[in-house]
Amino acid sequence: MAPRINPQIAPAAALALLLAAAATAPLPARAAAAAAAGGLLSAAAAAAPWIVGVRRELHAIPELMFQERKTSAAVAARLDELGIPYKRYAKTGLVGRVGAGAPAVVLRADIDALPVVEPEGLEFRSTHEGRMHACGHDGHMSMLLGAAKLLKAREAQLKGTVLLVFQPAEEGGAGGDLMIKEGAIEGASAAFGLHVMPNVPSGSVALRRGTIMAGALSFEITVRGRGGHAALPHLNVDPVVAAASLVGALQSLVSRETSPLGSAVLSVAMVQAGDTYNVIPDAVVLGGTMRALTHEHMMYLKGRVEAMAASHAAGFGCNGTVDWRLDHQPYYPPLVNDDGAADFAWGVAARVLGEDQVLETEPIMPAEDFAFFARAVPSAFLFLGIRNETLGSVHNLHSRNFLLDESALPRGAALAAGLAVEFLARGGVEGGAFGAAAAAAAAEAAAAAGHSEL
Ligand SMILES: [Zn+2]
Ligand SMILES: [Zn+2]
Repeated sequence: MAPRINPQIAPAAALALLLAAAATAPLPARAAAAAAAGGLLSAAAAAAPWIVGVRRELHAIPELMFQERKTSAAVAARLDELGIPYKRYAKTGLVGRVGAGAPAVVLRADIDALPVVEPEGLEFRSTHEGRMHACGHDGHMSMLLGAAKLLKAREAQLKGTVLLVFQPAEEGGAGGDLMIKEGAIEGASAAFGLHVMPNVPSGSVALRRGTIMAGALSFEITVRGRGGHAALPHLNVDPVVAAASLVGALQSLVSRETSPLGSAVLSVAMVQAGDTYNVIPDAVVLGGTMRALTHEHMMYLKGRVEAMAASHAAGFGCNGTVDWRLDHQPYYPPLVNDDGAADFAWGVAARVLGEDQVLETEPIMPAEDFAFFARAVPSAFLFLGIRNETLGSVHNLHSRNFLLDESALPRGAALAAGLAVEFLARGGVEGGAFGAAAAAAAAEAAAAAGHSEL
């Protein structure tokens, strides 16, 4: 049995349990695990200048979703340098391939940047004005390329295939979903992703079983009345008063209709109406996002926002409609770590980075399109700490002051490589890498698929 993390217990106690479980694991599995983890961290440390060089090169050329042409070319050049073949998907995405045969495992990095103006300071500052790698995706690419370098050097020993997935458009474009729909991860039975995290100590890793990041859905509500002279409100139907009231009323959905124990958040972040001081406008547009930790909760809130927009506006004589802007900002489901995959990743992280370097995290409310990978195959998403107060690497993701402690990158590369090597060494999900229950489920699914083909 794979070690289990109980989310109700403290990390230290969970760690003790894990150690006890590891000590009782079958000998071949332990030997394979130890051999797999061996040497990756020192090899990554030796490759640190290369990894950091890649990151700096990518940091200087940030591009927005589905426009990552220079970025994609730079990644392709590095794969060429490593002698790794690749295919293109989803406009600017790439999938490199190391090893051969089954099982296959996905290591994923996202490649897009944000419309943020980077401050002066770094010598490798963005050369694309108004664009910045403020979510650390340059670090993600460099870690995956670092892992690719380590894996390529061990290719003869790999017991299967590693798919190096570089996906575009994480920041709202659901590039991961498009990659999957185009067949980028066909044949893979598991996926792992890393995200740098400024509130986790640099070089440590934090993860959890189950939901680790929220789902997100954007909305645009139009409250329509009938505009006219601001001095004669009785002759108009004022959408501003209705919309102002609706902004407050929407807050009651989370505070009054959501269990205090089930996290959700709804924020109106944009209000647009009117052109001058003395004319009541015809309409008001409210834009925002809502987030929750389960799909069911998301769908409940979606229905209630629609109902409240219509009925609340009607109470003021207005018409309220919701556009979910799915063409502009697709729905991201909650990101749910598979229990077996999370336990496995915890064990690998402890072996590669050190037992005291793995922490349990609470779920967080931002969304991530790695959720689409986690919906497709059993997956684990891990936070790699970059918090370093001496360096000033303390600012939030998406902040223009975001700063990445590069000393964490070789550790992330070693961890990513370790996840792949060990997953394959253990025979993948069916071989028991994620525990006996997952192996049985995988075997059952394979048998059912076989029957349906007959
Ligand atoms: Zn981001
Ligand atoms: Zn990100």
